[in-house]
Amino acid sequence: MTESLATQMVDGQPEAFRVLVVEDDPVTRRLLEKLLQRSGYQVETAGNGRDGLALFEAGSFSIAISDWMMPEMDGLQFCRAVRSHDQQRYSYIILLTAKDSKDDLISGLEAGADDYLVKPIHPAELIARLNTARRILGLERSLRRRNEEIARLSITDSLTQVFNRGYFNQQLPAEISRVRRHGGSLAIAICDIDHFKRVNDRYGHQAGDAVLSDFAHCLRDNVRQGVDWVARYGGEEFALVLPETDLAGALLAVERFRSLVAEICVLSAAGSISITASFGVAALNADTDASVATMDRLVFTADECLYEAKHHGRNRVAGRALQPGHQQPE
Ligand code: GH3
Ligand code: MG
Ligand code: MG
Ligand code: MG
Repeated sequence: MTESLATQMVDGQPEAFRVLVVEDDPVTRRLLEKLLQRSGYQVETAGNGRDGLALFEAGSFSIAISDWMMPEMDGLQFCRAVRSHDQQRYSYIILLTAKDSKDDLISGLEAGADDYLVKPIHPAELIARLNTARRILGLERSLRRRNEEIARLSITDSLTQVFNRGYFNQQLPAEISRVRRHGGSLAIAICDIDHFKRVNDRYGHQAGDAVLSDFAHCLRDNVRQGVDWVARYGGEEFALVLPETDLAGALLAVERFRSLVAEICVLSAAGSISITASFGVAALNADTDASVATMDRLVFTADECLYEAKHHGRNRVAGRALQPGHQQPE
């Protein structure tokens, strides 16, 4: 077997599988180490379960081969301890044992082992079992990657790649709760492209889509990274969420966005497209009355301000802080 067979792809790069061998008998430990290294595995060893667990916690091992009977911590305890970790990546555990009664094997599997090997070690069987381990780990990894991608897509707007409305609805209440629990402030802005219907009518829907995309990227690329976030609220409306920002700070930030948007120039077959947008800002803080500090009220107030901005001529920003007792019309 060549070295390349014992590699896995990590971030697009081939990387040797890391195997942790936990075995108290030095002769068996050395034999396993040699067999594995010869097959291209990267190996580390420990003489008992406790030392093995310390190594396991310190490094990321794809596979652990653990003896059963060991001083300090035996193989079953080692399996249970590994499984009690909240692992980002699954590790495959093979128990190595002189025990071969059915009851013993069942307790090994129940402790979290994926497979077992009965001593004395048969080199070809060991390698065959490791091939199975790699196959299972490969499947687990591709499944996990797909799940991550599905999770990402479920909160992403497909046209603009910013967060979608579902994410906004789910995340904004959490931002509001954070302010109520830990203090500080929170602002949102609803951003609406001015006369966007005319863009579609004059340049076509595809050009309109390109404008929406550029608009969203302009917002996303210019917010405080890792703090502020942008979601497509619907159609040509986007929401900017600015944690730890009071009304005055939000008005300054959003005014900057207003002027950045006015610089966007999208090239289309029918000519270059310039746009403007109007922004409605709403802010709350820890002193805002609990009955007022809600997602509905925050969005409603931002919408009202957006309407004002449109009404006063578009390409402008209007904003208001939520006040205790602020009444929502019937
Ligand atoms: P106002 O300044 O008052 O906001 O005028 P407006 O034309 O921007 O507003 P209106 O609500 O009349 O039109 C919004 C337009 O946005 C109409 C709709 O076809 C267009 N739109 C919504 N979603 C999309 C999309 O995904 N792609 C494209 N190209 N257009 C979209
Ligand atoms: Mg032993
Ligand atoms: Mg609109
Ligand atoms: Mg509009």
